[in-house]
Amino acid sequence: MSYRLLIDGKLTDGASTLDVIDPATGKVFASCARADEAQLNAAIAAAKKAFPAWSALTHAQRKAYIDRLADAMQARQAEFCELLTREQGKPLDQAGFEIGGAIAALRYFGALELPLETIRDTAGERILEQRTPLGVVAAITPWNFPVILLMMKLAPALSVGNTLIAKPAPSTPLTTALLGEVAATILPPGVLNVIIDANDLGAAITRHPDIAKVSFTGSTGTGKRVMESAAGTLKRVTLELGGNDVAIILDDIEVKDVAPKVFAASMVNAGQVCMAAKRIYAPRAMYDALCEELNWLARAAKVDNGLAAGVQIGPVQNKAQYDKVLALIEDARSKGKVMDGGGAVDRDGYFIAPTIVRDLPDDARLVKEEQFGPVIPVLAYDTIDDVIARANDSEYGLGGSIWTSNPERGQEIAMRIQSGTVWVNKHLDMPFDIPFGGAKQSGIGREQGVEGMKEFTQSKIINVAKNKAA
Ligand code: NAD
Repeated sequence: MSYRLLIDGKLTDGASTLDVIDPATGKVFASCARADEAQLNAAIAAAKKAFPAWSALTHAQRKAYIDRLADAMQARQAEFCELLTREQGKPLDQAGFEIGGAIAALRYFGALELPLETIRDTAGERILEQRTPLGVVAAITPWNFPVILLMMKLAPALSVGNTLIAKPAPSTPLTTALLGEVAATILPPGVLNVIIDANDLGAAITRHPDIAKVSFTGSTGTGKRVMESAAGTLKRVTLELGGNDVAIILDDIEVKDVAPKVFAASMVNAGQVCMAAKRIYAPRAMYDALCEELNWLARAAKVDNGLAAGVQIGPVQNKAQYDKVLALIEDARSKGKVMDGGGAVDRDGYFIAPTIVRDLPDDARLVKEEQFGPVIPVLAYDTIDDVIARANDSEYGLGGSIWTSNPERGQEIAMRIQSGTVWVNKHLDMPFDIPFGGAKQSGIGREQGVEGMKEFTQSKIINVAKNKAA
């Protein structure tokens, strides 16, 4: 299997190649095409050339193309899932969830239309709002959910009439390359282009004058560089960035009921989820019991190669992230208590056992920083005002959850949390019709829903005087 770029409808070898590592072994298992700047420029030129005809199609015509792409992905679903597990590390059932979700997203946003809206229609005037596509959109994605996060951009962007450059993270490029291969026989040339880099073409994309919008998902640090670089041409940007979300447990719950749900909210995809629960706050009277229960769940979790049966937690996706998470655990050892059984697993690959850390001060790195791995600090609180202040004392504000037997009380507390989403008695629930995005340094703009779809368009007002020109 060769993993190539997609430029102007043609599957293309790269100017060089890129090795891809299986995080479950730490060894190279595939090689794929790597683009240089000339190939990037060719892809952008192809997308620009394809834009007039693609945007001139009716929405129904574009939907038909997008549906065919969804059908073709579905026909190769098992191949996508296995490849996703091999390059990303997540258990196969979670890969199935991601690929199934990506196909559903294609169908959902492919069907969603932004019709002409009448703002005012009186005897004297008619004022309309038309939503027009922007042109060439760049979709830059991270390595934790390489397929579904791309689809949250690709599907709405193409549906409203833009053309696209997809650029995956260098450690998980293969599923995007496979999508390019599938799309090559379906979409008109230039509508979707796949460019793979080694973390070196981002700036060339974000400053390019023929890119109208950058839809970026990744870390807050890179997001700031994207915004800076996009300023030169005043590009539209949507930034979906990092988080340090809280799960706040109230004093009215049963530890045994809630602990498994909060554990799952922290540890799915080995904790590499932007809106995973990354800090757990428990009432002091419940603190010991919750820590023990979470650690029991951690010890019971099956950690292994994502391709093995019944695995709950696969490896961390790449060596740099593995080293970073281990450094956070080491730092936590000197400031609090790493509960028994946590830390690195002694085997090849980037495996870290789910790790529960207790008794940390609020200024410990594991509490302050986004860990993005299978280690979670559990902190005690005394009053609701205290826990809300500590929850909000973060530069991030992506998600968060409140756990209570009284949903009304949960909702009241949710109203006081500074973040883009707050769940009550659930976490990580993201229906396609509900906008998602960050507060504070967790991002700018929204994806999903009509609001997210609108971000791939320009609003144009048509203001008509009904009397005839004299
Ligand atoms: P990253 O910022 O290192 O990389 C993201 C993408 O940006 C990659 O494709 C990378 O190649 C590219 N890139 C690198 N330098 C660039 C530059 N100068 N200009 C433009 N693009 C550049 O992020 P990551 O480590 O791959 O992903 C993990 C981060 O993503 C975490 O912080 C996580 O919280 C965040 N994330 C956020 C969301 C969300 O919806 N808010 C979703 C998933 C992940």
